[in-house]
Amino acid sequence: RWTCVNGKLLPTEEALLPVEDRALQFGDGVYEVIRLYRGTPFALKQHLARLSASSAAIMLDYGCVENELQASLEAILQKASGQDGQIYIQVTRGTAIRNHRFPEHTRPNVICTFSPLPAKNAIQLLKTVTLPDERWMHCNIKATSLLPNILAKEKAYRHGADEAILYRSSEHITEGSSSNIFMVQSGTLITHPANQWILNGITRQYVLALAKSLQIPYEERVFSLQELLNADEVIVTSTLQEIAAVVEIDHHPVQNGCAGPLTRRLHEEFMGSLSTEWFW
Ligand code: PMP
Repeated sequence: RWTCVNGKLLPTEEALLPVEDRALQFGDGVYEVIRLYRGTPFALKQHLARLSASSAAIMLDYGCVENELQASLEAILQKASGQDGQIYIQVTRGTAIRNHRFPEHTRPNVICTFSPLPAKNAIQLLKTVTLPDERWMHCNIKATSLLPNILAKEKAYRHGADEAILYRSSEHITEGSSSNIFMVQSGTLITHPANQWILNGITRQYVLALAKSLQIPYEERVFSLQELLNADEVIVTSTLQEIAAVVEIDHHPVQNGCAGPLTRRLHEEFMGSLSTEWFW
């Protein structure tokens, strides 16, 4: 595992940031997780565009570290050559004496890490539980302050599940603790609109693009807990979980505990498209 920290390439165990880093003290940073398939980053452009948007949303000057990040990415990609894995990028507001106000003359800290992951081809089957969405009102920003997300994930694990599906009210399912949620209703793919209540997942966007090109009907709209429980299929999408089938919600089986036909089709198309450059 390798990390570039402020442009310096080191084995990850040796890469350090100061204790006064703002992300450590305030969760004051933004990040991205990018999947590498045989050394090739998936949707790199889209991830970097989202990083830039997240930075702007927290008033962090991404422009001043963009070139350095590019160089770090190149160094990391060389180390990752040909491997499956993930790249984690974090841009923090920098190191400064602890004060809630933004520091005036501080440069962002930039971390870029490569960790190998096993290549997998089989579709994952996930158990889920529903939990209240306790996050703030800007879930579209990919910020490092993830306490509500990790608490939800941990509660899901303690209920014997793999992922938490979050809701603002019984009428409003948002997304997973680290994923987006789709449901299938009579052949139509339905997912939450891309607004402040969810992170607009790159995998989510890719699935919608796939649906469009395969002429699968889709809708971006809010749906209820009842609709979720009555859905024909439920799908989790994320960079790390890719396209996974939900087989259980709150201990009730979905789709007889198997991946449904549309889930399998999207997964197959997704896996098939990895050998080509992402067409966006
Ligand atoms: N929502 C949340 C809250 C997430 O943490 C993630 C994973 N980063 C996603 C959705 C999925 O996003 P992506 O497909 O870009 O990984």
